[in-house]
Amino acid sequence: IQQKLLVQLKKCLQQARSLIKSFQEEMNLIEHFIDGKITKGSSKKTSKVFNPATGEQSAEVNLASKADVDLAVQKAKRAFIDWSRKPPAQRARVVFKFKELIEKNSDEIVKLIVSEHGKVYADAMGSLTRGLEVVEFACGIPHLLKGEFSENVGTDVDSWSIRQPLGVCAGITPFNFPAMVPLWMFPIAIACGNTFILKPSEKDPSCSIKLAQLFKEAGLPDGVFNVVNGDKEAVDALLTNKDVAAISFVGSTPIAKYIYENAAKNEKRVQALGGAKNHCVVMPDCDLDQAVNGLMGAAYGSAGERCMAQSVAVAVGKVGDQLVNKLSKKVEALKVGPGSDKSSEMGPLVTKEHLEKVKGYVDLGVKEGAKLVVDGRNIKLQGFEKGFFIGGCLFDHVEKNMKIYKEEIFGPVLSVVRVKDFKSALNLVNDHEFGNGTSIYTRDGDVGRTFASKIKIGMVGINIPIPVPVAFHSFGGWKRSLFGDQHMHGNEGVRFYTKLKTITSRWPSGIRLDPEFVMPTMK
Ligand code: NAD
Repeated sequence: IQQKLLVQLKKCLQQARSLIKSFQEEMNLIEHFIDGKITKGSSKKTSKVFNPATGEQSAEVNLASKADVDLAVQKAKRAFIDWSRKPPAQRARVVFKFKELIEKNSDEIVKLIVSEHGKVYADAMGSLTRGLEVVEFACGIPHLLKGEFSENVGTDVDSWSIRQPLGVCAGITPFNFPAMVPLWMFPIAIACGNTFILKPSEKDPSCSIKLAQLFKEAGLPDGVFNVVNGDKEAVDALLTNKDVAAISFVGSTPIAKYIYENAAKNEKRVQALGGAKNHCVVMPDCDLDQAVNGLMGAAYGSAGERCMAQSVAVAVGKVGDQLVNKLSKKVEALKVGPGSDKSSEMGPLVTKEHLEKVKGYVDLGVKEGAKLVVDGRNIKLQGFEKGFFIGGCLFDHVEKNMKIYKEEIFGPVLSVVRVKDFKSALNLVNDHEFGNGTSIYTRDGDVGRTFASKIKIGMVGINIPIPVPVAFHSFGGWKRSLFGDQHMHGNEGVRFYTKLKTITSRWPSGIRLDPEFVMPTMK
């Protein structure tokens, strides 16, 4: 009897264990947010989400099927009917409440960013603040929706123009700013009267779901803001759904091009922001310590996983040796650690695959003949041995034809290229295929002004290392860093998410109007 009881007990224990396991898996499964609620996806496809500091899997995210995306579009289309008719000031009040809720929940949001992306807490808070500034901007959108009016464009004829929302808009976003980049898009689209579907990166999806829940709490009607998690299948479903009016994309250049081409083919408005290789020109007359400090933050902040990271330092004239000497000391002293540790200056990379890719570029740079001044490849952190860490890397004597110069590495790897004069620096930057951001360090106003005027780059800093435009200006690059016509947020965002209508009217009282067969002119 005792043996039988023991066997039974073992069976019970096994069952309890497997129940707990499946419960835990269920608990850590990130789903979608459709029509105001967490919605289970119809597909069994999932992707793993990691904590980059520990290297351990923290969750699983469901990858939406076409049917899931179509459902979200259908709900957003229905919600558009009432939301677009609401007075802009009423919409703005909901956005204002959303702003307050983001502020109140900022610690929780930032911890989500740290745990899934890996960046350090203060940097994650900074990125959330920059996103929050777009929400603040969106609170004032009624002012920007005002049209233009001309009285008497013809005899007793008035003409005016208004901007109206497009319908269902979609945003597809990258892993490196899980809060800020989505916040560039949907608060503006929604304040303009559109409804929105966000497809965040599958690498760090939790932040978007949290933002959707907060927006609902702020009073946003169901269906106005939806989040579908997914991969290419979800993206393709958005690109081909005829009820999606516009696509905003931020990510790597090959995917940006794919989005641009396919959205246009399917008759959608599109803005697709791509990758970057940002140069910081260091002139011999500059305050070198300022330039070095600026470069340190811009090259190694967020482990170089920023589209505005400065990954090339262009040393002009004789400044090269001194620049490399000062930089190398600081790169060696970089405090690398988990984002949750307040003393860390640089966290891990987002995934093991990305870590391998970045290490691969450092290996390649050595093979290509660049001088590896600081090698961060073999860093080991006690207690975080499985984390996706790499230390800061610094290359000197990088040449224009090397792959490490031409391609975006997206890691903490700074390349120093030496040129003889300002003109060569200008040409170097202008010849690169990317055109996102750049900056120059100089004390010469004439050089600074000429640089700003002649450089073929979308965002330019003069003695400013990361010239990210504030919310009421607009963000966007040139060349292969942006496909489309409009930049993100600011007035450009309002233009992107609205279409122009011009009305011409006359109220004839008692006059008979004969048919006119000639082109109307201002009579
Ligand atoms: P990514 O291009 O791999 O992914 C971006 C988005 O596209 C994700 O949502 C992803 O799920 C989706 N996607 C990926 N492959 C796809 C495919 N084959 N078909 C359809 N959709 C696909 O970019 P990432 O690695 O997440 O982010 C890093 C890149 O983003 C870097 O190149 C960086 O420069 C760029 N970026 C640019 C800006 C900017 O403003 N220009 C800002 C942030 C990041």
